[in-house]
Amino acid sequence: MLSGKTAIVTGGSAGIGKAIAAEFIDQGASVVIASRTKETGKKTANELGCSFVQCDVSSYEAVESLVEQTVDEHGGLDILVNNAGIGITGTVESTTLEDWHKLMEINLNGVVYGTRVAMPHLLESSGDVLNVASVFGLVGGPQAAAYATAKGAVVNFTRTTAVDYAEEGVRVNSICPGFVTTEMTKSGLEDESFYEFVLNQTPINRIAKPEEIAEPAAFLVSEKASYITGVNLPIDGGWTTH
Ligand code: NAP
Repeated sequence: MLSGKTAIVTGGSAGIGKAIAAEFIDQGASVVIASRTKETGKKTANELGCSFVQCDVSSYEAVESLVEQTVDEHGGLDILVNNAGIGITGTVESTTLEDWHKLMEINLNGVVYGTRVAMPHLLESSGDVLNVASVFGLVGGPQAAAYATAKGAVVNFTRTTAVDYAEEGVRVNSICPGFVTTEMTKSGLEDESFYEFVLNQTPINRIAKPEEIAEPAAFLVSEKASYITGVNLPIDGGWTTH
């Protein structure tokens, strides 16, 4: 249970982040969701019963302001979920440099910024960082040069940051989902041959629902996981077993 905890979930307005925010709220946490689009953010916040702060995680100043506002309003911070992310497909050649930098700024730098800014508060609360990586942080995949590179970096950032802060009481873990039904994967999974490829890679033989990602996420930031740090947990229907 997460009663009395204050959590920030970046990218909490939709998809996996929204499911994580809903699960945390169910378990008693006060949640602040953060994303770029005001309308969607406010709508989701009203639906879930939480706060929304408009924030682009690729801006260090915006992330500072998000954490500051949360701490001012809630008196501290216990959990940071670095979930915000985008998907850009392509090989190392077909990905434009502009797209490469954009993806790194959001999917990698956003995780680093959030962790850096939140850390003083998490040290005070003996709190938790949970990064949302991907199976493509653990193995390679087709047409995912920028995405898999960023997620691979998030996986090792998780390990190395866990080492730095373990003794001081802050745990740092990540989850590595396989394919989940969200806006991000919608158009890709509409392509029949890609859908077949995904099912062939997934021994459980289906796409995950966001809620199936949210429950293990809540476990990892709970007291029940008090001896777990530096772990990158696949939640992938078996994708990375073979
Ligand atoms: P989604 O449905 O597209 O939702 C993405 C969320 O992130 C939205 O709230 C979006 O809102 C927000 N966001 C995007 N860029 C942002 C930025 N620069 N700053 C702040 N918020 C931003 O995506 P999803 O599938 O739930 O993915 C969530 C995370 O899970 C990502 O890190 C993704 O890489 C990872 N993941 C997804 C899958 C999957 O199969 N879906 C699998 C493995 C890992 P705005 O656009 O309004 O900012």
